[in-house]
Amino acid sequence: MTKQMSIKSECRMVPVRFQRAIVGAPDKRYPDIDERGFNHAVPAMNGLPASAAVRGSAVSIAHNHTVEIQLVREDIDDDAVIYVTSSDESVFTVDTPMGHAPCTPGKTCNITLSSAMLFNLTPAVANLEVRYQKKDGPVIACLLVYVMPLMSVNIQPHIVAVNSSSAPGDIPSLAFGAVTQMAADIWHNAGISLSFAQTKYISITANQANMLLYSELNRVVDTAWTPNYINVYIVTALSNGTLGYGFSASAYKGFGIRHPAVFLALKSNHSGHHLDRSADIHYCANDLAHEIGHFFTLWHPTDDPMSMGLATQGWQRRDSWSMRFLMYNFNTTWRDANATPHKGNNWPDFNNFGYGTSAQDPSVAYRGAAIPLKLVRAGKAGIDGQCAIARNHIAKGFTTLYG
Ligand SMILES: [Zn+2]
Repeated sequence: MTKQMSIKSECRMVPVRFQRAIVGAPDKRYPDIDERGFNHAVPAMNGLPASAAVRGSAVSIAHNHTVEIQLVREDIDDDAVIYVTSSDESVFTVDTPMGHAPCTPGKTCNITLSSAMLFNLTPAVANLEVRYQKKDGPVIACLLVYVMPLMSVNIQPHIVAVNSSSAPGDIPSLAFGAVTQMAADIWHNAGISLSFAQTKYISITANQANMLLYSELNRVVDTAWTPNYINVYIVTALSNGTLGYGFSASAYKGFGIRHPAVFLALKSNHSGHHLDRSADIHYCANDLAHEIGHFFTLWHPTDDPMSMGLATQGWQRRDSWSMRFLMYNFNTTWRDANATPHKGNNWPDFNNFGYGTSAQDPSVAYRGAAIPLKLVRAGKAGIDGQCAIARNHIAKGFTTLYG
């Protein structure tokens, strides 16, 4: 096969790349790949210094864990013979292809990696090396692999019935076990283990049954709040169509809340748009994991270059990476598909991002759950490098984390 190239300031060839090995719901066996940008470092983390600039993709996997990722033959023939090796087998090993066999021919090849058990909080790093023609052949691509020791975080869930003075409210109903499992899977390969205590059931009296106003959030945290846990409150609906809040120990006072807390709503009926996600495990899990991200002091992206309307906060992104990102807070890229060079043809807004589409509304692609390793745009409030931000925050200890 012949490749045509024109060289500007730097020419990069991408013989192979890596992607999530499945399409569908978050699963700790199938981590997301941080493929955004080129020549960006991973920040210092838990005593490990910042990396050199990463010339390619990176992935984090929990320690003592087995994951599957997918290699894609991009600018190389589908039958090119390639091998994958670990640069340090004390950090991770390649389980498949087994016995140092070559990758299976074809556009893609799945690769299984197993990580070592680590005994302090400091991650370990090695490269997955892609070698051409021989198992000790030249390295034509690398995937930077961070192995993350698990840091356990306590979570106390509360299911909250919001009554009015004249009418009882509903007890919010969702498959909470499945939701918490999926939320835990989202955080697992960042090396953060969400440990859920037994759910508590509480009720409060508000102005209106099944609707919690912002000014009434303190009625909930005043009723039940467990120290040394992330307290999560599930309600039927929050006002203004809001689906969740995450107030960290660093930020809750500024929001007028009496304790750090996470709120999650199942329904909204705002501006004529009715939503009930009670049965949508994936949607609820993504949102729960997102709000917990706020609790770890992560913020939405604030680097939108075209701030207007809602985007005066800079939250709207227009690149295809946006929907891959756990802390992005819309289910759209906000870019006019017709303004793209390919006039929207195959524009990711209309595609899926490795997570599939909503069971309730197949026209909506689920946004992803990537927790990026690399710091792409330093100096902004909530950009990338979020794995390091969350882990370094948790490592400060119980008081800083839980408030
Ligand atoms: Zn948010």
